Amino acid sequence: MRSLASAALSLLDLTLTSAQLAAFQAYADELVEWNAKFNLTAITDPEGIQIKHFLDSLACRLAFRAASASPAATVIDIGTGAGFPGIPLKIVCPAIRLTLVEATGKKVKFLEHIIARLGLSGVTAVKARAEEIGRDPAHRERYDWAVARAVAEMPTLVEYLLPLVRLGGKCLAQKGEGAPAETQTAEKALRILGGQLNQLIAVELPGVAETRYLVVVDKVAATPAKYPRRAGTPGKAPLK
Ligand code: SAH
Repeated sequence: MRSLASAALSLLDLTLTSAQLAAFQAYADELVEWNAKFNLTAITDPEGIQIKHFLDSLACRLAFRAASASPAATVIDIGTGAGFPGIPLKIVCPAIRLTLVEATGKKVKFLEHIIARLGLSGVTAVKARAEEIGRDPAHRERYDWAVARAVAEMPTLVEYLLPLVRLGGKCLAQKGEGAPAETQTAEKALRILGGQLNQLIAVELPGVAETRYLVVVDKVAATPAKYPRRAGTPGKAPLK
């Protein structure tokens, strides 16, 4: 975990403890082992896991820091896959209360396994679609932060995320170099759903040519009850 340790320090001013590095090593080992059975991720080389999965996930801290987020914030990670960005964030921000949402059952099995393996508390994995959980009173407008990486285009993604965020809370979308243009296409969706663009934070990962972006959106008004629309509709007919 040397690459992760040095990059976390230089990019995020974050010194990882030996216990945290051991947790990341165990996470990487489990990811590779499970990936041989189920396809969880395309990135399986040690360097790629450290930088493109772990460090990239930890980069969300830049947005938390810019917003002076509470260390005990409630965070929901939509379409988390094998746990990104939620689990790396939990490893370094142990007080957050984290809900991981994933539609695919085998990925939820992996999440449950890794939560137990790393001994994480205050983390729940839920097998659900964003469109369902966004209408569930137990989750709707309950979270300080809704985060997602590599799940959907911005107009669709904000329909997944904004219903889950409390007034005054924030959404955080991790995006590639198309982020500025893609964010513009979400203007109408933001207006309808009660969101307002806060800022884009550019992130340069070591050894990765593409600039990454954190797109931060404020929840400034309640989301109308008819959103999110039923499963599949936000993807097929995005609010544009
Ligand atoms: N966030 C992870 C996984 C990205 S792949 C990462 O960055 O590595 C996208 C994941 O989102 C897939 O696992 C897919 O099953 C899940 N997903 C896509 N649409 C979803 C929805 N509407 N609700 C819940 N999960 C969804």
